[in-house]
Amino acid sequence: MEFKTFKGRIEQKEEVALKTYSIKIVDSEGGTFDFTPGQFATLTLGENVKRSYSVASIPGKPYIELIADTWKGGPGSQFFEKAQIGDSVEFLFPLGHFVLRESQRPAHFFATGTGIVPFMSMIEHSLITLGNTTKEFVLYSGFRHEEDVFGKGLLEMLDVRFENFKYKLNLTQPKEGYQGNIGRITQYIDTLTSTDIDAYICGSNQMVTDVKARLIAKGVPAEQVFNEMYY
Ligand SMILES: Cc1cc2nc3c(=O)[nH]c(=O)nc-3n(C[C@H](O)[C@H](O)[C@H](O)COP(=O)(O)OP(=O)(O)OC[C@H]3O[C@@H](n4cnc5c(N)ncnc54)[C@H](O)[C@@H]3O)c2cc1C
Repeated sequence: MEFKTFKGRIEQKEEVALKTYSIKIVDSEGGTFDFTPGQFATLTLGENVKRSYSVASIPGKPYIELIADTWKGGPGSQFFEKAQIGDSVEFLFPLGHFVLRESQRPAHFFATGTGIVPFMSMIEHSLITLGNTTKEFVLYSGFRHEEDVFGKGLLEMLDVRFENFKYKLNLTQPKEGYQGNIGRITQYIDTLTSTDIDAYICGSNQMVTDVKARLIAKGVPAEQVFNEMYY
């Protein structure tokens, strides 16, 4: 699929977690967005200022949904903070090769923070649109605090509805008395019952490097480990 330059309009904006915004962008010319889940859009935010964002929504919709945290405070963060319904935005789309490989091996997804965004699209598309009910999918999603979490509603719903999908949510610094899973998602690497899996990792440079090294050390073949780094 060739990428092209789109002129879009912000149709919806929501604060989905602390300092984290979801925006839905429609194509100014109408029509639906065709892409492979896991791909990203590169927004033009000024002269020579571009920032990339994975797509959270699934193909075939009249919008793409992007979700970004704004902790870094640079031009990308400011764009998401200030974005208003009706604003125009130009972007290149669809970009990237971080997409689900065709295989019957179980797919295990490792995400911290907004690294979960491309997995929301991949998992929803596989389970709901393609009706994939045999391949096993496991998502390990890590955040620091309760207020950082997003995507939980969709992912819990999919976990309940599909026997072949498991959603593990972990917090590293929850409030006292937190009842959910605590600690880094790397703990799950030790509990893998098979290493013949496809592993997909998305998050910061440091997290991706760490998770990848641990998976390979555990015995997952390097050629079955795929990643996207957000710097
Ligand atoms: C393919 C791809 C997909 C992405 N998808 C998402 C997504 O879905 N959601 C999301 O929230 N983000 C995503 N990102 C990250 C996003 O593109 C921006 O990097 C992020 O929003 C921060 O941009 P900014 O302009 O606010 O900050 P920047 O101006 O980029 O950075 C602000 C500060 O961060 C620090 N910094 C920046 N780069 C580095 C570096 N390389 N090393 C050390 N420090 C650095 C510096 O202190 C800098 O002053 C994605 C990145 C890529 C490459």
